[in-house]
Amino acid sequence: MEKVDYFIIGQGLAGTMLAFEMLEHNVSFKILTSVEKSKASNVAAGMVNPLVFKRLTKSWMVDELLPVMKTKYTRLENLLGLKFYFEKDILKPLSAQEMLLWRERKTQPEFSKYISKVEITSPVANIRNTAGYEFVTGSGYLDTKLFFDTAEKFFRKQNLIVDSVVSPEKINLKKENFEIAGFHSRKIVFCEGYHIISNPMFQFVQLKPVKGEVLSIYAPNLSEKFTLNKKVFVLPIGNHRFKVGSTYDWNDITEQTTQQGKASIIERLDNLIDTEYSIENHWAGIRPTMADRRPVLGFHPENKNIAVFNGLGTKGVMLAPYFASVMLNVLTVPRYKLIPEISIERFY
Ligand SMILES: Cc1cc2nc3c(=O)[nH]c(=O)nc-3n(C[C@H](O)[C@H](O)[C@H](O)COP(=O)(O)OP(=O)(O)OC[C@H]3O[C@@H](n4cnc5c(N)ncnc54)[C@H](O)[C@@H]3O)c2cc1C
Repeated sequence: MEKVDYFIIGQGLAGTMLAFEMLEHNVSFKILTSVEKSKASNVAAGMVNPLVFKRLTKSWMVDELLPVMKTKYTRLENLLGLKFYFEKDILKPLSAQEMLLWRERKTQPEFSKYISKVEITSPVANIRNTAGYEFVTGSGYLDTKLFFDTAEKFFRKQNLIVDSVVSPEKINLKKENFEIAGFHSRKIVFCEGYHIISNPMFQFVQLKPVKGEVLSIYAPNLSEKFTLNKKVFVLPIGNHRFKVGSTYDWNDITEQTTQQGKASIIERLDNLIDTEYSIENHWAGIRPTMADRRPVLGFHPENKNIAVFNGLGTKGVMLAPYFASVMLNVLTVPRYKLIPEISIERFY
C-alpha cells in the first residue's frame, strides 16, 4: 500500500495552497477530494481588496498578507505556465460625507499606499453620478476557475489526487495511522471548507457558514479598467463580462441560487451603473466563515496527527497563500507556536 506523509482532505483554496507548499518542501501527500462535496472556491469571485469599506479600515493583516500572496501566485504562475492573478484597481463612488472621510484616510501613511487618489470626476462613463470617487490600489483578482482547473490537472498528472468522499465519522480518533481509499498516511489535514460543520471531530470549532450568490453579466458599454464597488462589486473578467456580487445569508445555507439573491444584486447594480446589460450566469456557494472572522489552524486536542486548516471566510484568495505556509510550519516544525488569534486552541 502506498504511504504518504499527509492526507489533505479537500482541494479548495486551503487544500490547494497547502499542497503546493508541501510540494515545494518535499513533503509527500495525497489530496482526497470529491465533486460530491461543493467547493466555495469554485464560485468565489476571486477579488482581493486591501480595504474594508464599511468600517473605513485596512483589511486584517493586509500589509503582511498582500506581498506573500503576490509572490506565491506569481511562483505558481511560473510553475503552471499560465497567468491567473491580475492586478486591478478599484473605483469606489463616494457620497460627500464619505469623501471627507476617505480624503482624511489618504493623508495617513498606513492608508496612503492603498488609496491612490480621491477625485470629484469619474474617469469612466456609464456609472451614476456621485460626489466623488476613490481609487484603491493593491487590489486585484484571482481567476479562480482557471487556477483550480490548472492546479487540478497538474496534481492529477502526478497522481496526487484521489477522488474519494472521506467520512470523518469513520476515522478513529485514537489511531495514529490512517488508511483511506487504499492509501496509508500518519497524518490528516482537514481542509473541508464549510463541510467541517458535519465533521464530528471538529464540532467545537465555531464556524458560521455564510451563503453567497454572484451573477455574471455582459455589459458592452461598461469600462473594464476598474473594478467598481459600491454596495456591490462589478469585476471585469474580459470580453465585456463582469462578475457582480454578492450576498450574505447566515440563515439559508442551501447551495441553490435564489430569486431574492438575484434581485438584491440587481437592485444594487442598477444604483451603480447606468447602461444596458444582460445576465448570463448565477452561482451560489457557502463561505467557511468563523464566528470571530479569523482562520483556524492547528491540531485536534486529542490527536496530534489530525489537523485542520479552515475559516478562510470571505477573503480566501488573500489569506490562503500566507496561512498555507504557516500551516506547513504547524505540521512540520516541532513546538511551532501559532498566534492565539488563529490557533484552534482558542476553541479547546
Ligand atoms: C459567492 C461567494 C463569493 C466569494 N467571493 C470571494 C472573493 O471575491 N474573494 C475571496 O477572497 N473569497 C471569496 N469567497 C470566499 C472563498 O470562496 C473562500 O474563502 C474559500 O474558497 C474557502 O476555501 P476552502 O478551501 O476553505 O473551502 P472550499 O473551497 O469550500 O473547499 C473545500 C474542499 O473540501 C472538499 N471536501 C469537503 N468535505 C469533504 C469530504 N468529506 N471528503 C472529500 N472532500 C471534501 C470539497 O470538495 C472542496 O474541494 C467567496 C465565496 C462565495 C461563496
